[in-house]
Amino acid sequence: MPPFDVPEGDPFGPHNLPYGVFSPNGDPGGSAERRVGVRLGDHVLDAGAAARALGSPYAELLAQPTLNPLLAAGRTTWSDVRRALTAWVTVPAHRETLEPHVHPLSEVTLHLPFEVADYVDFYASENHARNVGQIFRPDAADSLTPNWKHLPIGYHGRSGTVVVSGTDVVRPSGQRKAPTEAEPVFGPSVRLDIEAEVGFVVGAPSPMGTPVPLSSFRDHVFGLCLLNDWSARDIQAWEYVPLGPFLGKSFATSVSAWITPLDALDSALVAPPARTHPLLPYLDDSVEEPGGYDLRISVAINGHVVSEPPFSTMYWTAAQQLAHMTVNGASLRTGDLYGSGTVSGPSDAERGSLLELTWNGRDPLELPDGKRTFLEDGDEVTLTAWAPGPGGTKVGLGEVRGRITSAAGVTEA
Ligand code: CA
Repeated sequence: MPPFDVPEGDPFGPHNLPYGVFSPNGDPGGSAERRVGVRLGDHVLDAGAAARALGSPYAELLAQPTLNPLLAAGRTTWSDVRRALTAWVTVPAHRETLEPHVHPLSEVTLHLPFEVADYVDFYASENHARNVGQIFRPDAADSLTPNWKHLPIGYHGRSGTVVVSGTDVVRPSGQRKAPTEAEPVFGPSVRLDIEAEVGFVVGAPSPMGTPVPLSSFRDHVFGLCLLNDWSARDIQAWEYVPLGPFLGKSFATSVSAWITPLDALDSALVAPPARTHPLLPYLDDSVEEPGGYDLRISVAINGHVVSEPPFSTMYWTAAQQLAHMTVNGASLRTGDLYGSGTVSGPSDAERGSLLELTWNGRDPLELPDGKRTFLEDGDEVTLTAWAPGPGGTKVGLGEVRGRITSAAGVTEA
């Protein structure tokens, strides 16, 4: 009987077990009642309470209001805890003990599951980079910049505005200047966009001055989640030369409430696309295990699927991104988050941003509720994904959802 008898084929079965942080509904105390949870089907297991009830040595590590202590514990502990959790939810003898510590998802509130340390965002899809190059630099000889095939391009974002799925996003205001206008104007963004991405969550830190090689990726990165890098294209276009994105991105970044451990995704590992340029040794992954992930993403606006970006097409892997961001000696901290960059596949229906899907507004999308170029107030964007799991199963990634509300100081019509 439920909750432990998850239907066969459920992408959140015992082969998945993503981690989150929740509090039971009706708990006005909020943060005091936050605790680590593990998703099983449409239920969540209170991991710390379960550990206590079963006399597990991991009770203290799991009875926490964030995932950070678990993240910091390192790879051996991550594997041990996962093995223990798998046994708890699959061995029938534990059921009676664990029943009181399982909550229906409909009866809990999900929170940002970890304290985000630094946030970095990359630009790793060749299809996306070429599309953006063609849109913004139509006269350039090559749609890729000269460095693109030699290093994973990235920028530092704003960790304090990373929010959990379900959080409303207020339309940002800022400066914009159309090429045809003489002076910039200030106001709510009129070109608000999404970027469908995957975020990687760093667990184990690294010391300053010591680069993290490709081969140490799994020692440091705990798991991944869907990520929506909301982008105000009009603000971005005016501000980004020469130092890159700033206020056009920093107003909000949404992540899933569930972090899928990399240990759940071994069946999804794939080789990245063939390298067309030789790589410097610290990025050369030709002798490493395949570093790509086969994640099938869907992007929906108000429930209508507009795109299905395939993560397996990403040119740069998460391991290469980690090696690159530490090769200068920059340290890693527990809770560091880095985004893959917009995921766009080769075909029109696989593009991960409205910028590309509408070709900068030239070709509006036809949605059941009307045409769209960029997002309107009230629009809700949902990213979902699954990956191949063991034995033909699917591993579901937690959704990331966000609704646009009118700009601060502007009343909705
Ligand atoms: Ca991005």
